[in-house]
Amino acid sequence: MTPEQIESAVAAAMPQAVEELRRLAAIPSVAFPGHPEEPVFAAAAMTEELLRSVGLPRVQQVPVEGSFPAIFGEAPAPPGMPTVLLYAHYDVQPAGDPAAWRTPPFEPTLIDGKLYGRGCADDKSGILSHITALRAFQGRFPVGIKVIIEGQEEYAGERLEAFVERNPGLLRADAIVVADTGNPRIGDPAVTTSLRGMAAFTIEARTLREPLHSGSFGGAAPDALAALMRMLTSLHDDNGDIRVPGLPRGTFLGQGPSEEEFRKTAGVLDGVSLVGSGSLADRLWASYAITVTGLDVPTVSGAVNAVQPAARARVTVRVPPAGDPKATVNAVVEFLRKVAPWGVELSFTDLTVGSGFQADSGGKARAALNRAMERAFGRPPRDVGAGGSIPLVNTLLKQFPAAEILLFGAEDEDAAIHAPNERVDLEELRRVATTEALFLHELSLPSALGV
Ligand SMILES: [Zn+2]
Repeated sequence: MTPEQIESAVAAAMPQAVEELRRLAAIPSVAFPGHPEEPVFAAAAMTEELLRSVGLPRVQQVPVEGSFPAIFGEAPAPPGMPTVLLYAHYDVQPAGDPAAWRTPPFEPTLIDGKLYGRGCADDKSGILSHITALRAFQGRFPVGIKVIIEGQEEYAGERLEAFVERNPGLLRADAIVVADTGNPRIGDPAVTTSLRGMAAFTIEARTLREPLHSGSFGGAAPDALAALMRMLTSLHDDNGDIRVPGLPRGTFLGQGPSEEEFRKTAGVLDGVSLVGSGSLADRLWASYAITVTGLDVPTVSGAVNAVQPAARARVTVRVPPAGDPKATVNAVVEFLRKVAPWGVELSFTDLTVGSGFQADSGGKARAALNRAMERAFGRPPRDVGAGGSIPLVNTLLKQFPAAEILLFGAEDEDAAIHAPNERVDLEELRRVATTEALFLHELSLPSALGV
């Protein structure tokens, strides 16, 4: 096929892709404990059906111990051709407060060229990007294809990693496309070359056997909540820079957003300043960030006049790609112990860690992707970092050190992933699917094969 034929095949397949995305995003496949499992299995079944529909000769559900099945599809490589692995996930974040949604989260709704609904972008757009790119070839794929769509990425997605480690042959590939990120702005092409890792833990501070009347005891009795707040606020200085020793600021080699763009996407209120020092790219993609993501404290409506005996917080640390999440947690915990006032009792529990990712400078697959993206978007991509982590990426990198891992997708920064009113721009999805199809074609050309 010629590039022109590929482009028009993708364009012709878009109405079907949109219908399929609507159907898939209508399934509340939340793979978190406490949510019904049946929709997750329904999304797995539909993903399997979609992979079959594009003419992959081998498609199967792969059981993953302690988790939901992954869907695997494969078409062998034509002689002399490389194999590309395509990754996405079919589970989604919980919808959160339905009142914060303008449209019902699991009734995908088209408004001004964007499809609204939980999972429309993250990551069911990734699934439809793969499906639409593959469909363009009508079963005659230019390179070897493997597809893996996992079912528990959003919640402690580490089960598939163990599976990959035990079955390295299944996913072996020369290049890996991870369709679970996006461009800084719609139509502004980018490849994500770095992901921050993550570490999180729960801290509990205890001071008393039980709550005490604040009139009779306040002023002398040590308040656990006050102690915890002092400790948490000491993590940052007045400018918002981290005070924990051993977590230096990094530098990102590439261009980040301007302050104006960032304020707009982040919805920062007028008159409120940003925090931290260094360029925004450095702060967002190459440096540590500590956020208190939860507090177990009395609510305002349930407040009684008491000095608190215990208080808990969830602390999340984003770790730059080169950083070690375990060492990072140790540094933060040691710092919190040091700043703890009044000899309070402390415990640290529920630790989770995930490594970051740094792409190498780029080989043949990246060069092919640059050509494909330039054609689909009208300009070549730039490198960007992303704050989120995709746990499987590091496992793949470890298992297949020679494979090039390419991260791009239709989750632009305005897509509100993990938030209310998640949406995907359907023109962006078309450009991403076109990029993917052109990329597969480019990889089969003699120039990419180096012959
Ligand atoms: Zn995702």
